[in-house]
Amino acid sequence: MNDLERLKRLRELYWREGMGERYIDPPRPSPVVYHEKISESLEELRQEVMACHLCDLSKSRRHIVFGEGNPAARLMFIGEAPGASEDEEGRPFCGRSGAMLTDMIRNVLRMQRSEVYITNILKCRPPLNRTPTEEEAHLCRPWLFRQIEIIKPQLMLLLGATALRYLFNETLPVSKARGRIWDYRGIKVVVTYHPSYLLRNPSAKKETLQDLLLLKSLL
Ligand code: URA
Repeated sequence: MNDLERLKRLRELYWREGMGERYIDPPRPSPVVYHEKISESLEELRQEVMACHLCDLSKSRRHIVFGEGNPAARLMFIGEAPGASEDEEGRPFCGRSGAMLTDMIRNVLRMQRSEVYITNILKCRPPLNRTPTEEEAHLCRPWLFRQIEIIKPQLMLLLGATALRYLFNETLPVSKARGRIWDYRGIKVVVTYHPSYLLRNPSAKKETLQDLLLLKSLL
């Protein structure tokens, strides 16, 4: 296109805008499109995440928190992002909220923590444990999508609104999303409160118990 054609095109676009047409930013490509190969195993994928510098969280992390548990788990838990303890140890849910999650798995689901797989939307800790930004979540979630493809769980439990938002592009609060079964590519999904919310709001524990019983009935 030469300068004159470009100018004509621009005038046409301004004219269209004046007539009420609106332009939106094209969706940002997700990082997987830049990857030449697709990791076939969790270990290969972990190596890729360790080398990831797609966002600034990679500069402040001590460890990536990839996820842990049974690589062939029937049940997968998805939280929000690592906190201080997780960043320090490189393991998901190993702080106070992790202790609560472990109790839920043992006492309600009657399973060992090592039988399930636990991970997060973000693999690196946001500073001061702030909520992940949309950009961080969009850049990071393809790692999670691939983890789900490799593990192929039958069931997933989403812990909190951030997990719901970035798995389903759904901004409902947990109070409205819980109590029913969602579907993610043929995988049954239950949504409940995040353990750190339960630490601050113990009265919500009874609803989480109901959600866990719903999950157990599907196992
Ligand atoms: N909160 C999360 O969402 N994930 C963790 O791993 C720890 C705390």
